[in-house]
Amino acid sequence: MHRIESGQQLREVFDAGVGCIFNDFEGDHETSSSADFNKLHRASCEDCDPRRAASAMTVATSGQKLFFPSFREAVGWLMQNRPGNYSKCSRCNPR
Ligand SMILES: [Zn+2]
Repeated sequence: MHRIESGQQLREVFDAGVGCIFNDFEGDHETSSSADFNKLHRASCEDCDPRRAASAMTVATSGQKLFFPSFREAVGWLMQNRPGNYSKCSRCNPR
């Protein structure tokens, strides 16, 4: 797992299309909306491509963006660090 630090890195991860990106929008805060905003995507999800989707994520918004080389690794981290406080993107349905 590593943190995506720049738009360039985000584009590289998207272009490679391997693994998952966790948009840790509200971090470990638990609010009525945090599970919705803390969202796991496939790296290839259009929501992760700033060139195609107007609503795409950027590293400038709230929350760290974390890259995981595999779904399995992502879920392992989420179960440890965000139990019950994340959701999976319905568009790309990572698994
Ligand atoms: Zn997605």
